[in-house]
Amino acid sequence: VALLIQPIDLMISNFNEYKQTEASVERIFELMARQPSLNEKPDAKELPRVIGKVEYCHVSFAYNLGEPVLKDLCLCASPGNVIALVGSSGAGKSTLINLLLRFYDPQSGQILIDDIDIRNVTLNSLRRQIGIVPQDITLFSGTIAQNIGYGQEELDLEAIQEAAKIANAHSFITQFSQGYHTWVGERGVNLSGGQRQRLAIARAIVHDPRILILDEATSALDSESEALVQEALERVMQNRTVFIIAHRLSSVRRADCILVLEQGQVVESGTHTSLLSKGGRYAHFYAQQFYSAQE
Ligand code: ADP
Ligand code: MG
Repeated sequence: VALLIQPIDLMISNFNEYKQTEASVERIFELMARQPSLNEKPDAKELPRVIGKVEYCHVSFAYNLGEPVLKDLCLCASPGNVIALVGSSGAGKSTLINLLLRFYDPQSGQILIDDIDIRNVTLNSLRRQIGIVPQDITLFSGTIAQNIGYGQEELDLEAIQEAAKIANAHSFITQFSQGYHTWVGERGVNLSGGQRQRLAIARAIVHDPRILILDEATSALDSESEALVQEALERVMQNRTVFIIAHRLSSVRRADCILVLEQGQVVESGTHTSLLSKGGRYAHFYAQQFYSAQE
Protein backbone atom coordinates (compact mmCIF):
# COMPACT_ATOMS: atom_id res chain seq x y z
CA VAL A 1 0.00 0.00 0.00
CA ALA A 2 1.36 3.39 -0.95
CA LEU A 3 1.71 5.85 1.86
CA LEU A 4 -0.93 8.52 2.04
CA ILE A 5 1.34 11.41 1.53
CA GLN A 6 1.01 14.02 -1.09
CA PRO A 7 2.57 17.31 -2.03
CA ILE A 8 2.12 19.45 0.95
CA ASP A 9 -0.15 22.09 -0.58
CA LEU A 10 -2.31 19.47 -2.22
CA MET A 11 -2.75 17.85 1.13
CA ILE A 12 -4.13 21.10 2.39
CA SER A 13 -6.32 21.81 -0.60
CA ASN A 14 -7.63 18.25 -0.56
CA PHE A 15 -8.69 18.77 2.95
CA ASN A 16 -10.47 21.97 2.14
CA GLU A 17 -12.10 20.36 -0.86
CA TYR A 18 -13.43 17.53 1.26
CA LYS A 19 -13.96 19.30 4.52
CA GLN A 20 -17.69 18.68 4.54
CA THR A 21 -17.66 14.97 3.92
CA GLU A 22 -14.09 14.00 4.82
CA ALA A 23 -12.11 12.00 2.36
CA SER A 24 -12.90 8.39 1.76
CA VAL A 25 -10.10 5.93 1.10
CA GLU A 26 -11.18 5.70 -2.52
CA ARG A 27 -11.05 9.45 -2.93
CA ILE A 28 -7.59 9.64 -1.44
CA PHE A 29 -6.30 7.01 -3.82
CA GLU A 30 -8.06 8.75 -6.67
CA LEU A 31 -6.24 11.96 -5.76
CA MET A 32 -2.96 10.18 -5.39
CA ALA A 33 -3.37 8.70 -8.84
CA ARG A 34 -3.50 12.26 -10.16
CA GLN A 35 -0.12 13.01 -8.67
CA PRO A 36 2.71 13.68 -11.01
CA SER A 37 4.30 10.28 -10.96
CA LEU A 38 8.01 10.09 -10.97
CA ASN A 39 9.57 6.97 -12.23
CA GLU A 40 11.73 4.93 -10.02
CA LYS A 41 14.97 3.87 -11.55
CA PRO A 42 14.84 0.23 -12.59
CA ASP A 43 17.80 -0.39 -10.32
CA ALA A 44 16.44 1.71 -7.42
CA LYS A 45 17.61 0.43 -4.07
CA GLU A 46 15.86 0.44 -0.74
CA LEU A 47 17.01 3.41 1.27
CA PRO A 48 18.44 1.83 4.43
CA ARG A 49 17.14 3.19 7.72
CA VAL A 50 18.57 6.69 7.75
CA ILE A 51 20.39 8.64 10.39
CA GLY A 52 18.91 11.88 9.08
CA LYS A 53 21.52 14.04 7.41
CA VAL A 54 19.81 16.03 4.67
CA GLU A 55 21.62 18.05 2.04
CA TYR A 56 20.44 20.13 -0.89
CA CYS A 57 23.30 20.78 -3.28
CA HIS A 58 22.74 23.57 -5.80
CA VAL A 59 19.13 22.59 -6.30
CA SER A 60 17.22 24.41 -9.01
CA PHE A 61 13.64 23.61 -9.84
CA ALA A 62 10.75 24.93 -11.93
CA TYR A 63 7.25 23.52 -12.21
CA ASN A 64 7.04 25.22 -15.60
CA LEU A 65 10.22 25.71 -17.55
CA GLY A 66 11.30 29.31 -17.59
CA GLU A 67 9.65 30.04 -14.24
CA PRO A 68 12.26 28.98 -11.69
CA VAL A 69 10.88 28.34 -8.22
CA LEU A 70 14.04 27.21 -6.44
CA LYS A 71 17.31 28.71 -7.57
CA ASP A 72 20.64 27.11 -6.77
CA LEU A 73 19.50 26.28 -3.28
CA CYS A 74 21.99 24.79 -0.83
CA LEU A 75 21.32 23.60 2.67
CA CYS A 76 22.74 21.05 5.02
CA ALA A 77 20.90 19.66 8.02
CA SER A 78 22.83 17.48 10.43
CA PRO A 79 21.01 14.57 12.04
CA GLY A 80 18.80 15.91 14.82
CA ASN A 81 18.81 19.49 13.58
CA VAL A 82 15.67 21.59 13.56
CA ILE A 83 15.45 23.71 10.43
CA ALA A 84 12.82 26.44 10.31
CA LEU A 85 11.69 27.56 6.88
CA VAL A 86 10.54 31.14 6.94
CA GLY A 87 9.39 33.30 4.09
CA SER A 88 6.34 34.87 2.58
CA SER A 89 3.75 32.94 0.65
CA GLY A 90 5.11 31.71 -2.67
CA ALA A 91 8.74 31.80 -1.53
CA GLY A 92 9.20 28.08 -2.17
CA LYS A 93 8.85 26.46 1.28
CA SER A 94 6.38 23.78 0.20
CA THR A 95 8.30 23.17 -3.00
CA LEU A 96 11.47 22.53 -1.04
CA ILE A 97 9.62 19.85 0.95
CA ASN A 98 7.94 18.38 -2.13
CA LEU A 99 11.36 17.77 -3.64
CA LEU A 100 12.56 15.96 -0.51
CA LEU A 101 9.58 13.62 -0.84
CA ARG A 102 10.30 13.30 -4.56
CA PHE A 103 6.98 14.49 -5.82
CA TYR A 104 9.19 16.26 -8.30
CA ASP A 105 12.86 16.06 -9.18
CA PRO A 106 15.07 19.12 -9.47
CA GLN A 107 16.21 20.09 -12.96
CA SER A 108 19.69 20.52 -11.60
CA GLY A 109 21.55 19.82 -8.40
CA GLN A 110 20.86 16.96 -6.05
CA ILE A 111 19.28 16.12 -2.73
CA LEU A 112 21.11 13.69 -0.49
CA ILE A 113 19.95 11.86 2.58
CA ASP A 114 22.84 10.32 4.50
CA ASP A 115 24.94 11.06 1.41
CA ILE A 116 22.64 9.01 -0.85
CA ASP A 117 21.05 10.75 -3.84
CA ILE A 118 17.34 10.30 -3.30
CA ARG A 119 16.83 9.65 -7.02
CA ASN A 120 18.59 6.31 -6.57
CA VAL A 121 16.21 4.84 -4.01
CA THR A 122 12.68 3.48 -4.10
CA LEU A 123 9.92 5.99 -3.42
CA ASN A 124 8.41 3.84 -0.71
CA SER A 125 11.63 3.41 1.23
CA LEU A 126 12.21 7.16 0.98
CA ARG A 127 8.74 8.36 1.91
CA ARG A 128 8.16 6.02 4.77
CA GLN A 129 11.23 7.46 6.48
CA ILE A 130 9.86 10.98 6.37
CA GLY A 131 6.99 11.75 8.72
CA ILE A 132 4.68 14.63 7.91
CA VAL A 133 2.47 16.57 10.26
CA PRO A 134 0.27 18.66 7.95
CA GLN A 135 -1.69 21.69 9.05
CA ASP A 136 -4.76 19.52 9.15
CA ILE A 137 -4.93 15.76 8.84
CA THR A 138 -6.89 14.15 6.03
CA LEU A 139 -8.98 11.49 7.71
CA PHE A 140 -10.50 8.70 5.70
CA SER A 141 -13.55 6.71 6.73
CA GLY A 142 -12.26 4.04 8.99
CA THR A 143 -11.22 3.41 12.56
CA ILE A 144 -8.83 5.60 14.47
CA ALA A 145 -6.31 2.76 14.39
CA GLN A 146 -6.57 2.52 10.61
CA ASN A 147 -6.21 6.26 10.31
CA ILE A 148 -3.06 6.32 12.37
CA GLY A 149 -1.63 3.27 10.64
CA TYR A 150 -2.84 4.19 7.12
CA GLY A 151 -4.67 0.87 7.20
CA GLN A 152 -1.42 -0.94 6.68
CA GLU A 153 -1.61 -4.60 7.56
CA GLU A 154 1.90 -4.89 8.88
CA LEU A 155 1.29 -2.40 11.66
CA ASP A 156 -0.08 -3.96 14.77
CA LEU A 157 -2.27 -2.24 17.28
CA GLU A 158 0.61 -2.10 19.73
CA ALA A 159 2.72 0.06 17.41
CA ILE A 160 -0.29 2.28 16.75
CA GLN A 161 -0.97 2.70 20.45
CA GLU A 162 2.67 3.46 21.10
CA ALA A 163 2.57 6.24 18.50
CA ALA A 164 -0.69 7.56 19.95
CA LYS A 165 0.82 7.71 23.43
CA ILE A 166 3.80 9.68 22.24
CA ALA A 167 1.40 12.01 20.41
CA ASN A 168 -0.75 12.61 23.51
CA ALA A 169 -3.65 11.00 21.70
CA HIS A 170 -4.01 7.76 23.65
CA SER A 171 -6.02 9.19 26.51
CA PHE A 172 -8.70 10.85 24.39
CA ILE A 173 -8.89 7.79 22.13
CA THR A 174 -9.47 5.44 25.03
CA GLN A 175 -12.23 7.69 26.34
CA PHE A 176 -14.35 6.68 23.34
CA SER A 177 -16.29 3.51 24.15
CA GLN A 178 -14.88 1.84 21.03
CA GLY A 179 -11.36 3.08 21.74
CA TYR A 180 -9.04 2.56 18.78
CA HIS A 181 -11.92 1.03 16.82
CA THR A 182 -13.88 4.28 16.94
CA TRP A 183 -15.03 5.26 13.47
CA VAL A 184 -13.84 8.59 12.11
CA GLY A 185 -14.28 10.26 8.77
CA GLU A 186 -17.65 10.09 7.08
CA ARG A 187 -20.40 9.32 9.63
CA GLY A 188 -17.71 9.01 12.29
CA VAL A 189 -17.22 10.87 15.54
CA ASN A 190 -16.39 14.54 15.49
CA LEU A 191 -12.91 15.39 16.59
CA SER A 192 -11.72 18.74 17.88
CA GLY A 193 -8.89 20.57 16.16
CA GLY A 194 -6.50 19.54 18.89
CA GLN A 195 -7.51 15.89 18.64
CA ARG A 196 -7.00 15.95 14.87
CA GLN A 197 -3.56 17.46 15.39
CA ARG A 198 -2.59 14.73 17.79
CA LEU A 199 -3.80 12.05 15.37
CA ALA A 200 -1.69 13.72 12.70
CA ILE A 201 1.35 13.51 14.97
CA ALA A 202 0.66 9.85 15.75
CA ARG A 203 0.33 9.05 12.03
CA ALA A 204 3.54 10.91 11.24
CA ILE A 205 5.64 8.96 13.71
CA VAL A 206 4.09 5.51 13.51
CA HIS A 207 7.06 4.28 11.45
CA ASP A 208 9.48 6.09 13.75
CA PRO A 209 10.93 8.21 10.94
CA ARG A 210 14.24 9.99 11.49
CA ILE A 211 13.07 12.92 9.38
CA LEU A 212 10.01 14.92 10.26
CA ILE A 213 8.21 17.71 8.48
CA LEU A 214 5.92 20.02 10.39
CA ASP A 215 3.64 22.34 8.54
CA GLU A 216 2.56 24.47 11.44
CA ALA A 217 -1.09 25.28 11.76
CA THR A 218 -1.88 28.94 11.43
CA SER A 219 -5.20 28.72 13.21
CA ALA A 220 -5.19 28.73 16.97
CA LEU A 221 -6.38 25.88 19.15
CA ASP A 222 -7.90 26.32 22.57
CA SER A 223 -5.15 26.64 25.14
CA GLU A 224 -5.53 23.19 26.69
CA SER A 225 -5.31 21.48 23.30
CA GLU A 226 -2.50 23.78 22.35
CA ALA A 227 -0.47 22.69 25.35
CA LEU A 228 -1.03 18.99 24.62
CA VAL A 229 -0.12 19.45 20.97
CA GLN A 230 2.98 21.47 21.78
CA GLU A 231 4.13 18.95 24.34
CA ALA A 232 3.69 16.11 21.82
CA LEU A 233 5.56 18.06 19.18
CA GLU A 234 8.45 18.77 21.52
CA ARG A 235 8.65 15.07 22.21
CA VAL A 236 8.58 13.90 18.61
CA MET A 237 11.14 16.47 17.53
CA GLN A 238 13.73 14.93 19.83
CA ASN A 239 16.44 13.05 17.95
CA ARG A 240 14.90 13.71 14.57
CA THR A 241 15.89 15.97 11.75
CA VAL A 242 12.97 18.37 11.55
CA PHE A 243 11.89 20.81 8.86
CA ILE A 244 9.27 23.24 10.11
CA ILE A 245 7.28 25.47 7.86
CA ALA A 246 7.15 27.88 10.72
CA HIS A 247 4.43 30.29 11.67
CA ARG A 248 5.17 30.47 15.36
CA LEU A 249 7.85 32.48 16.98
CA SER A 250 8.57 29.76 19.54
CA SER A 251 9.41 27.26 16.79
CA VAL A 252 11.51 29.71 14.88
CA ARG A 253 13.43 30.82 17.93
CA ARG A 254 14.41 27.33 18.98
CA ALA A 255 15.51 26.18 15.51
CA ASP A 256 19.16 25.24 15.01
CA CYS A 257 18.97 27.02 11.71
CA ILE A 258 16.45 29.41 10.21
CA LEU A 259 16.36 29.59 6.44
CA VAL A 260 14.82 32.72 5.08
CA LEU A 261 13.48 32.00 1.63
CA GLU A 262 12.68 34.64 -0.88
CA GLN A 263 11.73 33.86 -4.44
CA GLY A 264 13.28 30.43 -4.27
CA GLN A 265 16.55 31.48 -2.74
CA VAL A 266 17.97 31.30 0.72
CA VAL A 267 18.59 34.97 1.40
CA GLU A 268 19.68 34.50 5.01
CA SER A 269 20.37 31.64 7.35
CA GLY A 270 21.39 31.31 10.94
CA THR A 271 19.97 31.19 14.42
CA HIS A 272 17.35 33.59 15.70
CA THR A 273 19.87 35.60 17.69
CA SER A 274 22.44 35.82 14.93
CA LEU A 275 19.85 36.84 12.36
CA LEU A 276 18.29 39.43 14.63
CA SER A 277 21.61 41.06 15.34
CA LYS A 278 22.36 41.10 11.64
CA GLY A 279 19.39 43.40 11.16
CA GLY A 280 18.57 42.11 7.68
CA ARG A 281 15.59 40.40 6.07
CA TYR A 282 14.86 38.15 9.02
CA ALA A 283 14.95 41.01 11.50
CA HIS A 284 12.57 42.89 9.26
CA PHE A 285 10.33 39.87 8.78
CA TYR A 286 10.40 39.22 12.49
CA ALA A 287 9.33 42.74 13.29
CA GLN A 288 6.47 42.52 10.82
CA GLN A 289 5.26 39.01 11.53
CA PHE A 290 6.06 38.32 15.11
CA TYR A 291 6.56 41.53 16.97
CA SER A 292 2.95 41.69 18.06
CA ALA A 293 2.64 37.90 18.41
CA GLN A 294 1.42 36.34 21.61
CA GLU A 295 4.81 35.47 23.09
P1 ADP B 1 5.39 28.63 -0.18
O1 ADP B 1 5.13 27.26 0.34
O2 ADP B 1 6.61 29.26 0.37
O3 ADP B 1 4.20 29.50 -0.05
P2 ADP B 1 5.38 27.29 -2.74
O4 ADP B 1 6.51 26.35 -2.74
O5 ADP B 1 4.03 26.74 -2.48
O6 ADP B 1 5.69 28.49 -1.75
O7 ADP B 1 5.33 28.04 -4.15
C1 ADP B 1 6.47 28.61 -4.76
C2 ADP B 1 6.10 29.05 -6.16
O8 ADP B 1 5.77 27.91 -6.97
C3 ADP B 1 4.88 29.95 -6.21
O9 ADP B 1 5.10 30.92 -7.19
C4 ADP B 1 3.76 29.03 -6.62
O10 ADP B 1 2.79 29.72 -7.34
C5 ADP B 1 4.47 28.04 -7.50
N1 ADP B 1 3.84 26.70 -7.47
C6 ADP B 1 3.61 25.97 -6.37
N2 ADP B 1 3.08 24.78 -6.69
C7 ADP B 1 2.96 24.74 -8.04
C8 ADP B 1 2.48 23.78 -9.00
N3 ADP B 1 2.02 22.59 -8.61
N4 ADP B 1 2.53 24.13 -10.31
C9 ADP B 1 3.01 25.32 -10.71
N5 ADP B 1 3.47 26.27 -9.86
C10 ADP B 1 3.45 25.99 -8.55
MG1 MG C 1 3.29 26.51 1.05
